[in-house]
Amino acid sequence: MRYISTRQSSADNARSFSDILLEGLAPDGGLYMPESYPQLGATDLEELSRVLADEGYAALAARVLELFIDDIPSEHLKAITARAYRTPAFSDPAIVPVTHLQSGVWVSHLSNGPTAAFKDMAMQLLGELFEYELDRRGDWLTIVGATSGDTGSAAEYALRGRNGLSVVMLTPAGRMTPFQRAQMFSLLDDNIVNVAVEGVFDDCQDLVKTVNMDPDFKAKWHLGAVNSINWARLLAQVVYYVATWLQVARGADGGLDLDCRVNVVVPSGNFGNICAAHVARQMGLPLGTLVVATNENDVLDEFFRTGVYRVRSSAQTLATSSPSMDISKASNFERFIFDLLGRDGERTAQLFGEVLNSDGFFDLSGTEEFAALGENYGFVSGTSNHAHRLEQILFTEENDGYLLDPHTADGMHVARQWAPRLGGPTVVMETALPVKFADTIREATGHEPTVPARFADIEGGEQRVVSLPNDADALRALIEEKITPRN
Ligand SMILES: *Cc1c(COP(=O)(O)O)cnc(C)c1O
Repeated sequence: MRYISTRQSSADNARSFSDILLEGLAPDGGLYMPESYPQLGATDLEELSRVLADEGYAALAARVLELFIDDIPSEHLKAITARAYRTPAFSDPAIVPVTHLQSGVWVSHLSNGPTAAFKDMAMQLLGELFEYELDRRGDWLTIVGATSGDTGSAAEYALRGRNGLSVVMLTPAGRMTPFQRAQMFSLLDDNIVNVAVEGVFDDCQDLVKTVNMDPDFKAKWHLGAVNSINWARLLAQVVYYVATWLQVARGADGGLDLDCRVNVVVPSGNFGNICAAHVARQMGLPLGTLVVATNENDVLDEFFRTGVYRVRSSAQTLATSSPSMDISKASNFERFIFDLLGRDGERTAQLFGEVLNSDGFFDLSGTEEFAALGENYGFVSGTSNHAHRLEQILFTEENDGYLLDPHTADGMHVARQWAPRLGGPTVVMETALPVKFADTIREATGHEPTVPARFADIEGGEQRVVSLPNDADALRALIEEKITPRN
């Protein structure tokens, strides 16, 4: 399997999985995509069903990854997924259990990992793959990132204590919840450096960009990233769509209903989670409708309703009570548009380069591709706001005895509108646990969220964080002080 860029006009520069693993964007500014989608037929699905039932989630993951990775031996992939997906790092031995609520909707539980958000599903695998590949190359990396919460903590829990990897994570001082701060700052591993920047999240992100634009500094300190456009993260997510479908399509008698078309509803921000659903559907996994659920930051809902993709400025991006979906542009969206345009790299390059840069939007309404979008790709969308979120959290707790986090509540709200119109079972993808968002849970229900045992003492322990002015020279000096070059 080879990988191409979404902005490439021919497959001439196709690369292998290991070549693109440690990279972010392709050199032409595009995103990496597999040259073609491996296909899952009826016998494959029966076989994968047997693997999940007999050997578990990690074994299923190895089988799916193998379809996309031909330069890591199969035995090594099995060992990698077995280390990535296991208890007690994940609280449930099923890793991704699926439950059926009273109200008829299903929930796929993606937040049983160490930081209680679905980002762990990708990051835990990425940590193993990065360590494996760096070891194979005798290389090392300094991951410099910025986070407002979920991504940074998932990255740190995946990379802590790993050979050849250090993490310098910038956070906006005083702007994370006490739980998020405790989660990150209580990590005392030598290879983790938590930084509180005097500024907001955008300032943190600008600092990361600035040090990365300095080629000498970047080369000297082996700067790298684990951002949401990394192909391996997306690939890790494809696995749980397969696992979800297998569990919903498996009847009480253990038989698999191959005609069962499962709809999925995905709380979306950067379009990473639902892009994995798109990949799985293109592979022939019998998914029906893919429902994009947004919050008040409805860039994606606008596109799927109107055909206009209009990125927002930071000033137009609202701070909401489902903060991990507060995005101004959806960084993985280019992958879907590339497919939608029949994999026309030149047209994709033009839309995401020239057109977006000069106009701030592009318009596909009136094109035959957009007209056939629902039919060919199954996408629909919906949106939710603070009032909906609160109402949904209370409703689902009272009716289904299940406490939603605010992001999954956005998904559930949109699912309630769509499910009656869709044939077949509908699954809401759970993206976080409520324990991370106590304020909103209190506002919705009047009580505190339940605290899973593994997080019981988290806010009480020792914390370590370095303060930093909003200044790139200060960040360079910090990296020079804290990181030890390996060779
Ligand atoms: C990251 C995140 C999302 C959005 O996922 P995308 O892949 O960016 O679309 C939704 N909910 C939670 C809790 C998240 O952490």
